[in-house]
Amino acid sequence: MNPFRFAIQARSGRARVGLLTTPHGRVETPLFMPVGTQGSVKGLLPKDLKAIGSQVLLANTYHLLLRPGPERVRTLGGLHRFAGWDGPWLTDSGGFQVMSLGHLRRIDEEGVVFQSHLDGRLIKLTPERSVAVQEALGADLIMAFDECPPYPASRDYLKASLERTLRWLERSLKAKTRPDQALFGIAQGGTEPDLRRRSTLETIRFDLPGYAIGGLAVGEPKEAMFRMVALSTELLPETKPRYLMGVGHPEDLVAAMGLGVDLFDCVYPTRTGRFGSALVPEGRINLKNAQYLEDKRPLEEGCDCYACQTFSRAYLAHLVRAREMLGGILLSLHNLRFLHRLTERAREAIRQGSYGAFAREFAERRFGKEIPPWFREAMAAGGHW
Ligand SMILES: [Zn+2]
Repeated sequence: MNPFRFAIQARSGRARVGLLTTPHGRVETPLFMPVGTQGSVKGLLPKDLKAIGSQVLLANTYHLLLRPGPERVRTLGGLHRFAGWDGPWLTDSGGFQVMSLGHLRRIDEEGVVFQSHLDGRLIKLTPERSVAVQEALGADLIMAFDECPPYPASRDYLKASLERTLRWLERSLKAKTRPDQALFGIAQGGTEPDLRRRSTLETIRFDLPGYAIGGLAVGEPKEAMFRMVALSTELLPETKPRYLMGVGHPEDLVAAMGLGVDLFDCVYPTRTGRFGSALVPEGRINLKNAQYLEDKRPLEEGCDCYACQTFSRAYLAHLVRAREMLGGILLSLHNLRFLHRLTERAREAIRQGSYGAFAREFAERRFGKEIPPWFREAMAAGGHW
C-alpha cells in the first residue's frame, strides 16, 4: 500500500486542516517545518523539538552532499538514525543553495556545475544525482531538482527556466527508485501570472503526492507574492499537500494558510533567534536593546515554552550581550514554539470554521490599526474577510 496519504479534515474558507501520513508518522497540517541545514536544527536537541511540537524537519541536500556526503549518511542509517529524529524528514533538491551559496560555474540542460563553498572542488548536480543523493539521505519527502530564478528576472528567462524545470521533473521521476519516499514537484514562473499558471498546470499533470510553490519570497513585493500563492492554490489539486518554500514570517504564514497552503519552512525563527531577536504577537523584539536589561517579563506573556516559563527578558538580554550560546538556544526554542503555536491555533480555528476571526485577531495585534493591503487582499482571496 502507498505509505503516503493526505486527508483533508476541516475547512474554513480556503484554509484547511489536513492529515499527512508518511512512513515515519502522521502529521497535522498546516505546519511549519524547522530547518536543520546540516541535519541539525541549530542549537536545539531533537527531543526538545519534539516537546515544542515540531513534526517534520527539513535538511539541505546541498550541505549534506558536501559534508559528510550522502553515502556516509546512508551507511550510518539515513537521516532518521544518523541525526536522531525518527519523525518525518524533508530534503530539498539542492538547486536553491547551488544558486545562492555555491560558486555556480555552469548551468545547462544537463544540470549545474558548481564550486563547493567549503573546499573549492567542482561538483555536478543533475536531476538524477539530486534524487540519488536524496535517496541516500533517506528523507520521507523529497523534492524534484528545479531552477529557482532570482527576482527580478526577465520573462524570457522565467519561461526558459520553468520549461527546463519541467524537463528536470520528468528526469527526477524517472531516476526515483525508493517507494518509501514521496517526490514533490516545484512550480515556478516568478511573479508573471500566466507563466505561474502554466508552470503549475504542467506540474500537476505528473500527478504527484504533493506540490511546492517555488521561486517566491526571493525579494518580490508582498502583493505580488500572495497573488501568486492565491493563483497557485486555486489550481493545485485539493487532495494533495501544498508547500510554500522558504516562508516563515508569522504574518506570511497566516496569509498563506488562509489561501490553503499546508507546509512551510524557513531559517527565519532560528536565525533571528541566534541574532538576539524574539518573535512576539506585535512583531519581534531585539534583546540587544537597552530597554530589556531590567525587564522582568517573559519574552511573551502566555507562551508555554521553557524559555518563557523560566527566564525573564532581562536574563535573555544579558545572555545575548554576553554572547552566551544559551541565549541563541533559548530564543530559537521560543521562536519555533511561537510558529508552532501559531499553526496549532490556526488548525483549531479552521476546525471551528472561524479562520477569518483568528486572522483578524492576529492582524490587529501584529499590525495595529494599519493592516497592510496585501494582507487584506489575501484574506479576501481566501474567503475570510
Ligand atoms: Zn516562549
